[in-house]
Amino acid sequence: MTLQVGRFLIVAPIGRDGNLICSLLHACGYGVESLPAIKAIDLTESSLVSGLILTDEALSREGFSALRSIIHGQPEWSDLPIILLTNGPIDHRFAPFASRIRLEFRSVFLLDRPVRKEMLISAVQVAYNSRLRQLEVRDAADRQFRSDETLRNTEKLATAGKLAATLAHEINNPLEALHNLLFLVENSSALDEAKSFSKMAVQELERIQEIVDLTLRLHRAPSSPSLNDVSEIADSALTLFRIRLRARQIVESADLNRTMAYCSAGEMRQALVNLIGNAIDAMPDGGTLRLRASTVSFDGRSYARITIADTGSGIPLEIRPNLFSQFFTTKGSRGTGLGLWLTQDIVQRNHGRLHFRSRAVPPSGTVFAIYLPSRPPAEPSARGDLDAKQPQVKFQAA
Ligand code: ADP
Ligand code: MG
Repeated sequence: MTLQVGRFLIVAPIGRDGNLICSLLHACGYGVESLPAIKAIDLTESSLVSGLILTDEALSREGFSALRSIIHGQPEWSDLPIILLTNGPIDHRFAPFASRIRLEFRSVFLLDRPVRKEMLISAVQVAYNSRLRQLEVRDAADRQFRSDETLRNTEKLATAGKLAATLAHEINNPLEALHNLLFLVENSSALDEAKSFSKMAVQELERIQEIVDLTLRLHRAPSSPSLNDVSEIADSALTLFRIRLRARQIVESADLNRTMAYCSAGEMRQALVNLIGNAIDAMPDGGTLRLRASTVSFDGRSYARITIADTGSGIPLEIRPNLFSQFFTTKGSRGTGLGLWLTQDIVQRNHGRLHFRSRAVPPSGTVFAIYLPSRPPAEPSARGDLDAKQPQVKFQAA
């Protein structure tokens, strides 16, 4: 037998049980360590411990509370198996602890003494395999987390790339105007005429300044959560798409009232950029994009609601189950298929919820709604995450 996971810790303070169990397990190829008391158990390297083997006598009152804090202090993935050798109903002193252990901890095997060797070995084997499985699951979750992290960064880069292109485009227009105006100034014969051209040139410069300021402000938005006016975030996200909206003949209708939400401004901006980008993609032949931010209440709590509604193609029923999956896109090489996956991730990380309604037949359209808590989660009136109650979003696309 090859053993990859750690040893069993044995606490059998009275008699020869401790030694006997150690030699039996050792002979079967298991790693063992005998300890004088439960409080000597050290699970700092939890993955190096396969399980605990305790006898009744280890479970004094102090022993039980030490065990409780050890077990509750385990990492999330860990469910350390405990094998408890009891004197069963013969010794009433320990009976309450045995039943509390069984009720309070999830992986407990009770074995009545005297224990047959085969019974003990089979319990140890089950405990060992269960521990091995826990470690495998932990490793798989780690791998998944790392690959999710890579995807998040990929989408961030893709968004950054798109934003850079939009920005260049936004700046290019006033630059071109500036160029023309300076040419006109140079060739003006009258001072008044030159002054009026240079006044227009200053306005174009101010526009460039505004775009640069906005981008820098967005870029510096802190990623840790704080109270933010989400209508401002939505407005600044929208500004980045102005040229695209005009080029596509999309009418924009923004109803953005001051709406406070406890969230990470930088992450929210990315979520909104994703949703606005999708809405624009869905309206290649024009339409209306509506952005709303308002505070809503239900169950006596207040939430910030931001809706992004388009009159685009709508989302066909058959693709809805895949919408939030990684890499799902209907845009071929133009899409990354990460936008909605990431948006949902961001919203959930900010303790919010993302909903959508869509109609794929005329009058078609889609509305995405983000709900965020209005206050920090620590304040009692903002508690009770949005998971508990799902707010209803009315279909708004005309
Ligand atoms: P991508 O935009 O790169 O395709 P997303 O995850 O952002 O990836 O979106 C996944 C798919 O969801 C899109 O390819 C599109 O088919 C659909 N979709 C998302 N938003 C809308 C919308 N507002 N209207 C219609 N379809 C949408
Ligand atoms: Mg997208």
